[in-house]
Amino acid sequence: MRITDGALPNALERLTEQFASLPGVGMKSAQRMAFFVLAQSDEKVQAFSDALLEAKRGIHRCPECQNLTDLDTCPLCRSDRRDHSTICVVEGPKELLAVERTREYGGVYHVLHGVISPLRRIGPEDITINELLKRIDGSVHEVIMATNPGAEGEATSMYISRLLRPLGVKVTRLAYGIPVGGNLEFADDATLYRALEGRVEVE
Ligand SMILES: [Zn+2]
Repeated sequence: MRITDGALPNALERLTEQFASLPGVGMKSAQRMAFFVLAQSDEKVQAFSDALLEAKRGIHRCPECQNLTDLDTCPLCRSDRRDHSTICVVEGPKELLAVERTREYGGVYHVLHGVISPLRRIGPEDITINELLKRIDGSVHEVIMATNPGAEGEATSMYISRLLRPLGVKVTRLAYGIPVGGNLEFADDATLYRALEGRVEVE
């Protein structure tokens, strides 16, 4: 789609389109960003473009917890200050950060990278459930299901719990405090802390 009907150079149009493809960025903002880029020094623009490529090329999933990392194994999984017998299962890296912000959780994590959603055609094999099951050996004592409240998060949590229980591991889920339909990412630290503290065993 051409935005200005030839009034601007093609390269500027293309740049604007790229910015407009970012989540939450409308055409007007995209155009402002494109003009901003033009006003920067070559070095600054180079650094920006390097950061994009380096992030894309250098960041992968931690083989243990599946969180994003630029190291072989992420710092949380490598840390001997973390309790490796407790795994907190979250939907994505943003939710992991939310739990981490409470500073009250000392275990390790497992990042699902999504939830099961028949509507969006996301099945159990599309998220990292198998990777989680592989981590359950005798050394893991508790798995805390911290998926977001709401139908898909709940269903995913139940699905995983059913797979985990026969493996002889205690499965708990976050308790009160997180409103149904709410999102861990936006829960305040105190609310999330209470939900974590008051977690209950999954029946
Ligand atoms: Zn990790």
